[in-house]
Amino acid sequence: MPTVEPARGPLRLNPEELVTCVGCGLCLAHCPTYRVTGLEIASPRGRIAAMRAVEENAAPISEAFVAAMDACVQCRGCDAACPSGVTFGHLMEDTRAALVTSSAPAATAPRWLRAFDWFGYRIVLGHHRVLVALSWLLLIAQRLRFVPKRFGLPTLQVSALRSKLDAPVGMPVGMPVGVPVGMPGGSTGHVAWFFTGCVMDAWQRPTHVAALKVLKAAGVHVALPMRGADCCGALHTHAGRREEARLLAHRVIASMPGGAVIIVDSAGCGAALKEYGRLLDTAEARDFAARVRDFSEYVVEIGVPAVRATGRTVVVQDPCHLRHVQKAHLPVRTMLQGAYSLLELDDDGLCCGAGGAYSMLQPALSGEIRERKAQALHAIGAANDGVVVCSANPGCAIQLAQAGFTVCHPAELLAEALEESPR
Ligand code: SF4
Ligand code: SF4
Repeated sequence: MPTVEPARGPLRLNPEELVTCVGCGLCLAHCPTYRVTGLEIASPRGRIAAMRAVEENAAPISEAFVAAMDACVQCRGCDAACPSGVTFGHLMEDTRAALVTSSAPAATAPRWLRAFDWFGYRIVLGHHRVLVALSWLLLIAQRLRFVPKRFGLPTLQVSALRSKLDAPVGMPVGMPVGVPVGMPGGSTGHVAWFFTGCVMDAWQRPTHVAALKVLKAAGVHVALPMRGADCCGALHTHAGRREEARLLAHRVIASMPGGAVIIVDSAGCGAALKEYGRLLDTAEARDFAARVRDFSEYVVEIGVPAVRATGRTVVVQDPCHLRHVQKAHLPVRTMLQGAYSLLELDDDGLCCGAGGAYSMLQPALSGEIRERKAQALHAIGAANDGVVVCSANPGCAIQLAQAGFTVCHPAELLAEALEESPR
């Protein structure tokens, strides 16, 4: 007899995932929105209870419900902390996706906002050339002081927008694309794709330049994606725009064919690519996801190139999507420990409040969460002269730089410490 799946409610949540929460509250201390508000509805447990009320008990999709869901940073700190294995990230993504298509008045944004979102998510993020062109316009507007600081945007640099990546687009002729790491390629025989993404590639390209320099020193033959890798779709998934995220994911998969590893130096993008199996639910997507590595994870896997001791101090800040989703935060330390003196924060990886577009959509909460992180950073001396904060996610880097810290990507730090002659 085939098993009959229980009927789902208006949020279309997986009933098994929903009932896993036993209400123990062990996740509360790991939730940044609960920590700054002290409100049950701003905690994972409170949000799950609200989801169950809508899904199972016919509670309305009210403004309070939508606000509670919107206020979640989607940091997944609760996923990592939950002893019962609640996959809160999935519940939140499914809830957001249901709200986007819901006809409930509280979930329906004004027409102008929907048009703005459509332009931003579909046109700008989905087409890298449009994003780069708008970035140049933004840079000009910033120089003319037309962009208020409260927008929280980083100051764009001409040198960053102009910098070039030292790698071919697509695997060169003769380079087999269907091969795993270990086939003839770079001097140590490693072959890999390097995913460049959307905002990071436009605004923080020097990080990509540094990552490619390290990979070259490590003997990796790197190729840039072919047409279609405009955006990983992480921001779309966060916003519940799942169909657009799927469209982007199909294009990203097609842009890096074969079996070579895919290296990603943005923790958020890497997490999204590693979750393509769930997003698309196909064997092809699952195979693709298994090839994805965070930059530091990959460098440690193949062997850190020769570096010199710099005598400098670095505070390691773990992006949530590297620590809680990819669970690949430890290689950052392994990679940098030969060149830098590393300091650890004692906040269990609590979120910095960046959360994709969260800092723009929820500026007050995001600011309060960042303040907690800033206090932890100050306590360990991260604001002292010569001390650098290391973060592997572009959003976290922007968020912490706005609080006055000097922030570098692990790839930039390793590139600086490389010994002169490549291995
Ligand atoms: S999500 Fe997990 S940790 Fe939090 S209350 Fe539910 S069972 Fe407990
Ligand atoms: S994802 Fe982060 S902000 Fe959202 S409920 Fe979980 S811990 Fe709190």
